[in-house]
Amino acid sequence: MVRIRKDIDAIQAYVPGKPIEEVRRELGLRDIVKLASNENAVGPSPKALTAIKKACAQLHRYPEGGCPVLKKKLAGRLGVPEKNLLFGNGSDELIDIILKALRQPGADIVTADVTFVEYKIAGQINGFRVIEVPLCDFTYDLAAMARALTARTKAVFIANPNNPTGTMVSRRALLRFLDRVRRDVLVVFDEAYVEYVSSKAYPDSRRFLKRRNVAVLRTFSKAYGLAGCRIGYMMADPAFIAAAERVRQPFNVSSLAQAAAGAALDDRGFAEKNSRLIRSEKKRLYRALSRLGVWYKESETNFVFVRFATGARRICRALLEKGVIIRDMAMYDLDRYARITVGTRPENSKLIRALKETLEETR
Ligand code: PMP
Repeated sequence: MVRIRKDIDAIQAYVPGKPIEEVRRELGLRDIVKLASNENAVGPSPKALTAIKKACAQLHRYPEGGCPVLKKKLAGRLGVPEKNLLFGNGSDELIDIILKALRQPGADIVTADVTFVEYKIAGQINGFRVIEVPLCDFTYDLAAMARALTARTKAVFIANPNNPTGTMVSRRALLRFLDRVRRDVLVVFDEAYVEYVSSKAYPDSRRFLKRRNVAVLRTFSKAYGLAGCRIGYMMADPAFIAAAERVRQPFNVSSLAQAAAGAALDDRGFAEKNSRLIRSEKKRLYRALSRLGVWYKESETNFVFVRFATGARRICRALLEKGVIIRDMAMYDLDRYARITVGTRPENSKLIRALKETLEETR
């Protein structure tokens, strides 16, 4: 019998949003809308598709490990030196790389209790104790997090804006927090939804890089519409990037993903157009939720955190049967809450119609 690490049993596996194909098979529905994984509703940039087709001719070759062409382009775009950048197989992989580079017996990481679960999962896999600090008004409580740091804390993970609540922490609050954190603790800002933020108080985290204990994660999965390609990047101090380079797999980002991301960066209007659509559709969704008497938290992202008067699981199931996939929050033991990704106009209309019917039926 193979002896597997005992602590693996305690790790709650990541549960992704239900794929459309699965719902099609299970329920025999044809018209299905997936608003469960915060993906880009519009699709990929056509320029990215063209670049992928072109890159296919070289699929028998390994990709360039360090993504040099893409790195140069992104560095120019961000105004950040290339030595501050590292690409990963989605920001998911970068979270793991960070933890691999920092792990030590007995060490811990600090994050929030209702946040992106990958910090906890990757933390546990890498042997960290994970300290989860409760949100305050559905927002990261940075003062409480500063108090929660221990002598063994190696990293703090802050999703800004937060998934699943859609809230953000301001530049001022972050600066105050950074001043309270020891310089040997890495503070990770996960900015997966940065392109959707409209608040003026949102920080330009590139400014924090000179502090040397800051890492910023971003992704091509959301506004750039490339979730299926798996590519994200980290900005951090060159010394930390150099360590992470040693930790990563030699060919961690596929040639197709590199080509797609480069083309998506060139398609200047694509992400902006998507952000504009999401902003206006989000307002429409807010109005519909208000009319239906569903509480929601105002969001800086492409999804909305909602609370129903009754259990969310039943409502999500009823929506599923009408061909609309959203995400209940059972994984956080939040029985009446759900997260709805903002889709295209027709998708949101279908959601609003289905939700209205469901609430009437379950009343
Ligand atoms: N961070 C946050 C806050 C997210 O919500 C997600 C996606 N669900 C990720 C990271 C992972 O993104 P990627 O596709 O780049 O791995």
